[in-house]
Parts: sequence; C-alpha cells; structure tokens
Amino acid sequence: MFMLVEINKEDIANRFMRYVQIDTQSDPKSGAHPSTEKQKNLSKILVEELKEIGIADAEMDVYGYVYATIPSNTEKNVPVICFCSHVDTAPDCSGTNVKPILHKNYKGEDIVLPDDPSQVLSPVVFPYLNIQIGGDIITASGNTLLGADDKSGVAAIMQAADFLMKNPSVKHGKIKILFTPDEEIGEGTAKLDIKKLAADFAYTLDGGEVGSLEDETFSADGATIVINGVISHPGYAKNKLVNALKVGAEILHALPTSEWSPETTEKKEGFVHPVRFEGIAERATLEFILRDFDDEKLKRHGFRLKEIAESVVNHYKGASMEFSIHEQYRNMKKILDQYPQVVEFASEAIKRAGLEVKTESIRGGTDGSRLSYMGLPCPNLFTGMQGIHSKLEWIGVKDMAKAAETIVHLCTIWEEKTDK
Ligand SMILES: [Zn+2]
Repeated sequence: MFMLVEINKEDIANRFMRYVQIDTQSDPKSGAHPSTEKQKNLSKILVEELKEIGIADAEMDVYGYVYATIPSNTEKNVPVICFCSHVDTAPDCSGTNVKPILHKNYKGEDIVLPDDPSQVLSPVVFPYLNIQIGGDIITASGNTLLGADDKSGVAAIMQAADFLMKNPSVKHGKIKILFTPDEEIGEGTAKLDIKKLAADFAYTLDGGEVGSLEDETFSADGATIVINGVISHPGYAKNKLVNALKVGAEILHALPTSEWSPETTEKKEGFVHPVRFEGIAERATLEFILRDFDDEKLKRHGFRLKEIAESVVNHYKGASMEFSIHEQYRNMKKILDQYPQVVEFASEAIKRAGLEVKTESIRGGTDGSRLSYMGLPCPNLFTGMQGIHSKLEWIGVKDMAKAAETIVHLCTIWEEKTDK
C-alpha cells in the first residue's frame, strides 16, 4: 500500500492565479537572455517563495533561470530528480494584464469571457470541459491568454515542493527544481547550466490532459533555400532577367497540397512547412521547418525539399540556389528508451494519483527534447492546461492539483525503488 497524497485545491488555485497576473511574455526577436527582462519578475517571486518554505539554496541567475534543491531525507542513494517548468508565455497572444477568473462548481455551460464577449468557452469546442463538471475551472477574462502554459506547471511544482517541505515523513532523494525562461521561443535551455543543476533525470510539467505522459517528440530540422536570380534593368530585361521572388513563389507552389504539410497531417505523420519568405528581385530566402518522429524520414524530407526546389530553379538560365539544413532538436524517445525506469515510474506515479495513464507523442518539441540530448532524460507530464496560446486558454483546478500529487508520488517512488 502506498500513501495517499492530497494537495489542497484552493491553495494551488490561488498560487496559480497569483503567478498568471505577472506578465512574462517572451520575445523571439530580442536576441537577449532572457529575451524579456520582465520574465524575471515572476522568477524573483518564485525564489522568495521557495526560501520562505525553507529551500535555502533557491536562486535566480542573470539569465533568469531559477535553481533550487529540496535536500534528501533518506539514507538511500537515490538518483537526483529534477522537475522543470517554463515561466514565459507565448508571443502569439497578449500576456499583459491577465485577469484570471475562477469559475466555481462548473456545470457544463458555455462561459462568455467578460472583457470580450466574442470569446466563448464551450464544451462543444472543448469536450474536455465535460469532465470538469462539478469542479472549479480558471479562465482569462477575454483580452489575453491565461498563461496556464506553463504557470500551471510552475504552480504544481511549487505546491509539491511546499508539500514535501511540510511533510518530512514522506521519504525522497535529492530533488531539484528548475524554472526556465524563453521556452516558447525555443531557447528554454540556451543558457542552462546543466552541471550546476546536477540532476540525473528530469520531468517537465508542460502537458495537457490529466494523466498524460509524453515520452516522444518530433525530431526537428530547419531548412533554408537562398535563390539567386539574374538582375537586369527592367526596361531592357527581355530574355535576361530572372526574378528570385517569382522563383521562390514557384517553389512554394510546387509543394504538395494534399500531404506533407501541417494542415494535412496528424498523429505520426511528418511534414515540411514554409515559415518565412523574404527578399528582393535579385535574391530571395525561403525558410522551412521539417518535422518527423523518425530521424531517417526527417532526412528524406530534406532531400525531397531540395529536389523540388532544384527542379524549379533549373528551369531558369543563370539562376542558382543554395540549400542548407540545420538541426533543431531530436525525438527524446531514443534517449528515454535507454532509461525505461524514468517513464515507468512516472506511469506508476500517475496511477497512484488515481488517474489513468495516457502515453502520448508530442507533435512538437519541449525543453525535455533538448534536455534529453544534453544528458538529462526528460519526459513531459500533464498539468491540465487547455486551449493554450489563446484567449480561450483554461485549466481545471483539480487537474492541476493532480499534477502536484503526481510529482510527490514520483519523488517517493524513486526513493522506494532504490535498493540502498
Ligand atoms: Zn509550454
């Protein structure tokens, strides 16, 4: 028999609503670390709160990373486990002046957000609302995102830390807490000091539906095609000029329309997706993202894109192209399969929290994909967040509390399963 852990729902709801009111939007165009200084406003509060609950070494570095350690309270030599969430919110939707609203005892009705009545949260669009009936949910007010991605993860980790510090009879090894900036702009691990963190395994809390456990992400590459046209005075250009912009447009037009794109694929299918097209008549640049769960297939997507582009450019005398591929991140599953206990223990923890485990693949990346390849195997756990990066973002309080309970169980399972 294992112990019962119960996280106070009101506490975690209040904590979460406090965090989401702090604007922590990241900025992909900044180039600085962190990309926006305001992310530190939340990180500083987290450090203070960690210290208040007795975690003495909590600190924030110049890049806005928060590191903290819950000391081991067991004789056993348990691997060091880290729990990680990101403090930033997505650049896609305003995060300024977020006004969280707690809807108590949700009954399955449509919720009209008061600051913009065109924003209606409905179980028709979010069937997941139906399993929240009888519980409390939190939404934004209509003008902003909520920031459940990923402040629900932050709140769950903080609440679990608070629980562990207040209940020393709950045995666990050394636990590391990590809060990162800039995950939403793909730079969550850019300035991470992995040596300082000194963890053996990690879990991000950055997932959706209650009970979900994600151990697989896309493998991701970026591709750049630079087209060199042939320039000539447009008044005297007949049979000479090749307009690089037109060649670029033709390449885009030559891409398949019924497959191979984000809008035509799902589940385990990969895709190629143009994300930027810019230039002048003389020279144009096309940027793409390439995604697949399988590294071999990902490589073939690159070859196929190059072939399509070449077949277009070759039609134009004097025009040329440069093609390059750069790696973005890799599927974490390859690494996690080498340490099956990391995912096994997470499944066990979810079950002990009274939930059904839903193992899923992420059609995207997480900080965990990068961490896994930095030597820190790191699957992703649910927090309950829904409708992320939008004004209709929401979360069930019960789900968030279950995420915190799962963290506590995970800590005890690692201790339990360690022999000495
Ligand atoms: Zn996130």
